[in-house]
Amino acid sequence: MSENTAIEWTDHTFNTHWGCSKISPACDRCYAEALANRFGYSWGDDAPKREFHEQHWNELLRWGRKAAKEGVRRRVFTNSMSDLFDRFAPAGVRERHWEYVSRTPNLDHLLLTKRIGNVARMVPAAWLSPGGWPANVWIGATVVNQKEADRDIPKLIQLPARVRFLSMEPLLGEVTLPVALLTQIAWVIVGGESGPDARPMHPAWTRSLRNQCAAAGIHFFFKQHGEWVEIDAVAGRDLETDMRRGLVRIVKSCNDNDGDFRSDDALMRRVGKQAAGRMLDGRLHNDFPGLEVR
Ligand code: SF4
Repeated sequence: MSENTAIEWTDHTFNTHWGCSKISPACDRCYAEALANRFGYSWGDDAPKREFHEQHWNELLRWGRKAAKEGVRRRVFTNSMSDLFDRFAPAGVRERHWEYVSRTPNLDHLLLTKRIGNVARMVPAAWLSPGGWPANVWIGATVVNQKEADRDIPKLIQLPARVRFLSMEPLLGEVTLPVALLTQIAWVIVGGESGPDARPMHPAWTRSLRNQCAAAGIHFFFKQHGEWVEIDAVAGRDLETDMRRGLVRIVKSCNDNDGDFRSDDALMRRVGKQAAGRMLDGRLHNDFPGLEVR
């Protein structure tokens, strides 16, 4: 079903522009920067952004017409190569995007940002008034650890979008979601990091989020383990060589870094993203907000 994207939770990916700067531990191994560098673009607040012509923007109209013809709705993830709420985004790019949003009612535009605190002052003022937020705009915040969850979820739920969601990728630690706020979030996406130097994700962090979502009745999507899987800690096995080579790591279940291996810590082996897969406790978790929000 995905026409131009390998991202499992969307039908399309659309970029209003390329170029961004790092503001979160989630950005440490930014794949967008690596890709942009290969195309000759630099990264950072002052770096020139890559902008696109009409033909590129009109892809949105084409997807919208196709969805209307097929009588379906399609999800469009905006942006994989930048952040629409970056204050260094090209002048006028957000306004242009709002116009295309209004012209594509059969597309649900998933605006995902690491700058959720900027959203209220960057969207049209009318969106913030009662009933003013476009029904086809979902708003999501990336949160990858407890600190970001505590700081950013209260900002996310202030926005009067019909669908608010969290992207917790790359998940970098155990996160307890605030129960009182959870009912105002429709969807949680969790994933481990992939690519060179990817950090391992303790499976207990994922299970905990799955369970928290299930208890609160929230759609849960598990995207991937990343590059690493948990292996059994067999007594007497010599892991020293693999650990020295970076193939095996200990991931602490919580933040005690005293160096001791505890029963709830995980021994993780780097096997690659494909081999690590998307199964969690023997099943896929592909849930997303459906007809009830359409
Ligand atoms: S916000 Fe996204 S695109 Fe920007 S640096 Fe961070 S990971 Fe990369």
